[in-house]
Amino acid sequence: MDQLSQLNTGISILEISYVVASVLFILGLKMLSHPLTARRGNIFASIGMGLAIFATILFHQKDGKPIGNIGFILLAIVIGTGIGWVIAKRVKMTAMPQLVSFFNGMGGAAAALISMIEFPHISPELIAKTGMANGHVLAILLGLVIGTVSWSGSMIAFGKLDGKIGDMRLKAMKFVNLTILAVLIGFIVFIMTRNVQAASELTPLIYVMFIISVIYGVLFVMPIGGADMPVVISLLNSFTGVAAAMGGFLYNNQAMLTGGILVGSAGTILTILMCRAMNRSLLNVIVGVFGGGGQSSVATSGTVKEISLTDAAVLLSYSKKVVIVPGYGLAVAQAQHICHELDKLLEEKGVEVRYAIHPVAGRMPGHMNVLLAEADVPYEQLIESDEINPDLPNTDVLVVIGANDVVNPAAEDDPTSPIYGMPIIKARDAKNIIVMKRGMGKGYAAIENMLFFNNKTRMLFGDAKSTLQNLVNEVKSL
Ligand code: NDP
Repeated sequence: MDQLSQLNTGISILEISYVVASVLFILGLKMLSHPLTARRGNIFASIGMGLAIFATILFHQKDGKPIGNIGFILLAIVIGTGIGWVIAKRVKMTAMPQLVSFFNGMGGAAAALISMIEFPHISPELIAKTGMANGHVLAILLGLVIGTVSWSGSMIAFGKLDGKIGDMRLKAMKFVNLTILAVLIGFIVFIMTRNVQAASELTPLIYVMFIISVIYGVLFVMPIGGADMPVVISLLNSFTGVAAAMGGFLYNNQAMLTGGILVGSAGTILTILMCRAMNRSLLNVIVGVFGGGGQSSVATSGTVKEISLTDAAVLLSYSKKVVIVPGYGLAVAQAQHICHELDKLLEEKGVEVRYAIHPVAGRMPGHMNVLLAEADVPYEQLIESDEINPDLPNTDVLVVIGANDVVNPAAEDDPTSPIYGMPIIKARDAKNIIVMKRGMGKGYAAIENMLFFNNKTRMLFGDAKSTLQNLVNEVKSL
């Protein structure tokens, strides 16, 4: 094994494997930025991860000895792969966000476990040389706190996305959360300034830190509600990346470091973009004091007007410009294919059809892009909300399909609304608005939407898929 693992150049197969794995991670991430290459990107990144895992099992050595317990490790891999495979195969497209949250939490938990296991084994030589104040100890403590927060926060996010856990808001939440953060920092400083012979003397403190971190993760995600979950999810994602990168530092493992940094930095960039898209501040996300279940003061009474299928078909067929706003309901109904059929039909009739894509439409970042790419809607037809908003006054018909919060004018009109300040697709600027949904159900933020009572709006009630199918038939029969 020694001859095999060491090339003439002195570079080990393990190191080469890590470099190749890192390159695969980077290429995979790059490909994920476009729906057409995203699937391949996922495959590239998983090959990279597989390579890193098996190269470590085969070639990693500690004190000149290969790693032990290979049987247990392989068994764990087989069980984990089996469970992950079955869950991922069975999950419905609309439950993907919960799944992502759950898997993200598992990453955080793994990073936290590494820290808990490694802490008592910090080398006595290192402690004799530098005391506890060194980068190695800091990486362990940060990995523990960030990984644990990511795990417990992701579990709460999972419950919320699945509708099993509601929002919980207390007035003192910001104060409580900031205090807990300060206590955790205090623990880190305390441990790193202790004068001990062996780190194991301080192990009980590690368990206390773990418990406090669990509480922090729960408390900071509990109040987040309204339409702000996407920001928290991407923040938790970046936490897991940072926690994994700490593990990379700890083990001097390039693949783990690169993977962690990529997830951490991509997650952070996404969080910042999401914060901007939602008009929120990053600090408020971290201490869990925005969004929430605040009730809008908007009156809930009013009359809605309906439109018949035939009238909707005529209106659409004789328009020049049509904009479709897809939302979560389109994904639930799996109506993306029939929606594309409608847009092709209209385009054949000389109507310009574009899709207005809101950054948090659906239940995961990029949800609408993925959904519409699945139905082969050309990417050029998908226009970001900022870009399409100025053109909406020239739009003859705007068709909202299963979207609600992302077109809710309360975000602009009602300072008491939990979504106030969030940029929206300015649907009400269009000349005519058709809203397709099953009834008067609310969106994720659970608030009333005055767009449905607007003079220009007409409702086309029913499941998005069957309504679109009937509409397609009507348009064909004209
Ligand atoms: P919403 O959740 O606001 O609204 C979806 C609407 O779809 C509902 O009002 C529902 O009304 C309708 N609907 C449900 N099923 C069907 C169906 N089968 N056919 C037709 N209509 C249906 O969706 P949006 O996309 O507008 O907004 C997304 C929300 O989710 C935002 O608040 C966002 O912040 C949040 N979120 C987003 C995440 C992300 O990363 N993108 C992650 C977590 C949360 P009815 O019952 O009457 O049919």
